Amino acid sequence: IATVALGAMVALSACSGAGAGGGSTDGGKGGLIGVAMPTKSSERWINDGNSVKAGLEKAGYKVDLQYAEDDIPTQVSQLENMITKGAEALIIASIDGTTLTQVLQDAKDADIPVIAYDRLIRDSKNVDYYASFDNYKVGVQQANSVLNGLGLVDLDGKKKSDAPKGPFNIEMFAGSPDDNNATFFWNGAQDTLKPYIDDKTLVVKSGQTDFQQAATLRWDGEVAQSRMEDILTKSYSDGSKVNAVLSPYDGLSRGIISALTDAGYSTGEGWPVISGQDAELDSVKAINNGEQYATIFKDTRKLADVAISMAEALLKGDKPEVNNTKDYDNGKKVVPSYLLESQIVVKDNINDVLVKSGYWTEAEING
Ligand code: BGC
Repeated sequence: IATVALGAMVALSACSGAGAGGGSTDGGKGGLIGVAMPTKSSERWINDGNSVKAGLEKAGYKVDLQYAEDDIPTQVSQLENMITKGAEALIIASIDGTTLTQVLQDAKDADIPVIAYDRLIRDSKNVDYYASFDNYKVGVQQANSVLNGLGLVDLDGKKKSDAPKGPFNIEMFAGSPDDNNATFFWNGAQDTLKPYIDDKTLVVKSGQTDFQQAATLRWDGEVAQSRMEDILTKSYSDGSKVNAVLSPYDGLSRGIISALTDAGYSTGEGWPVISGQDAELDSVKAINNGEQYATIFKDTRKLADVAISMAEALLKGDKPEVNNTKDYDNGKKVVPSYLLESQIVVKDNINDVLVKSGYWTEAEING
């Protein structure tokens, strides 16, 4: 009896809590769900959008999928539009996590639950759930991939007994300062690199070791390219070489690679170890041909599944499953989260991680 009563209470509180999205009685089936993605300029968001849309449609919902080309007012008006059209839930990968407070209040007033997708939405209590990866761990993995490329640790971060002493010159990049994830990636990476910087195994010749100095607005590869060019001119014209670059995203890594190539670096002996994120196809090819050392694979299909399950649960009046209720404080509340695991990809495991999981085919990678 107690279990039944508890179950009823949970269902009841879920209904009155996040809102049952327009009060539909059939779990929202057939209803409209708004999906807002930041930009089509990066492959991962195209994959995310496609997976979320296909999954929701398969589950019987209608989908309004919009991309905002990294323009904040465009994303806000797309969301307003979804609310006007009667969306029953919103799944949002924000551009700037701090700019949606008003539109989320409008969603709340219309009783529409909101799921933050991949990037935490900040400064609003009207964010019901968060679907993402363990973003701090992504940063740890990025740093470990760099240390691995330098021969210092294995891919799990365990120190190698035959590790070289260095010193190695490293330069570091961070993501967009308005994206909550960027700080998590940076903190995970810095905590991992710190002992090596402290004992001078790693040397940051540019002296640019603060997040603000390393940040790259809107994750723009050209911005990273010109910052790398500047660093090479100012800190390496004495003939010294960069041995490693911490990069938090494949699109930045490609800019960094261009800057290095333009400055006369060539692949092979003396080419720096460069990290990345997202396993974008061009970057997987770059790993295959030795330009990029590693990327972090975050399976966007799994993330889409999590967000879809959350939306379905909310629309049925159930509580979505979460596995973290402490790490993602958005400034107004700790947003209950479901965090997925990511994986380091280097040349040797491209096949095991990316091809076997069907993320990319061998033909795509080799084509
Ligand atoms: C995502 C990364 C992505 C970056 C740039 C971040 O919020 O978590 O996967 O590389 O945005 O698009």
